[in-house]
Amino acid sequence: MKGGSADPDASSRPKLNGKIALVTGAGRGIGEEIALSLGRAGAFVFLCARTESQLAKVENKIRRIGGRAESVTADVSRDDDVKALFETIKRRKKRLDILVNNAGVGHFGPIEDCTAAEFDEMMAVNARGVFICCREALRLMSPSRGGVIINIASVLGIKGYAGQIGYTASKHAVVGVTKALAAEVRSHNIYVSVILPGGVDTEMVRLSRPDLDRKSLLKPGDVAQAVMYLLSLSPRAWVDSIHIRRRGSEPF
Ligand code: NAP
Repeated sequence: MKGGSADPDASSRPKLNGKIALVTGAGRGIGEEIALSLGRAGAFVFLCARTESQLAKVENKIRRIGGRAESVTADVSRDDDVKALFETIKRRKKRLDILVNNAGVGHFGPIEDCTAAEFDEMMAVNARGVFICCREALRLMSPSRGGVIINIASVLGIKGYAGQIGYTASKHAVVGVTKALAAEVRSHNIYVSVILPGGVDTEMVRLSRPDLDRKSLLKPGDVAQAVMYLLSLSPRAWVDSIHIRRRGSEPF
């Protein structure tokens, strides 16, 4: 698997032709791989992040593999940006079938070094951003077509690690939002899941945990593969949460 790209066996790959998807935080790392997988499977993919140049590169990659994508620059912690993002999707495609809430930030270190501004930023992007995007997405999803929302939390959505207090709080909130929303839309043909990955080899981990051996980390494609698994489930089955850990790391 080159560069961590998820390219599961074509026979088990979901067919997403005609589906409209949005991936937040699609400019690099895990979000980029999820967007590529969705594009490869035939979905039209809206790509969102704050850095236009990174989105343009991902959009070009999707085009080169024969997919279709469109970039929308937006900060998911800013209400006006999110409103404009969903207005663009409505204007361009009238509906949304798949939302992957992947945008996230992390500030790591002991509690005495964690500023309130850093804590607030993690809650605003990782937790509040997921809530607002879910709310706006539901307005574009219809019970007749159905819809899927996949939130990328972290193993820290259920565990607590030293030096990651604000990040852990924000990812627990993502799990909470997912659970409550899944219950709220259960009769609307809309299905909500959370993926909880352990350490993944991306810029976030390279900057925050330079001590980790990169060879031991998951690849972004491992998370993309879990997203594609959820989208390939039969109409009878749904999976509420997927916990992906590094082999050799602590189970459960
Ligand atoms: P990354 O390489 O830093 O990528 C994060 C992406 O999110 C970038 O495209 C970034 O683009 C975007 N983003 C950040 N803040 C944003 C905002 N306010 N509005 C819109 N987009 C924003 O990180 P990653 O490792 O791929 O992480 C992706 C997700 O997986 C995050 O939610 C992270 O918490 C989660 N996760 C990561 C790991 C890991 O070990 N790497 C493990 C478990 C879970 P801009 O900066 O241009 O906006």
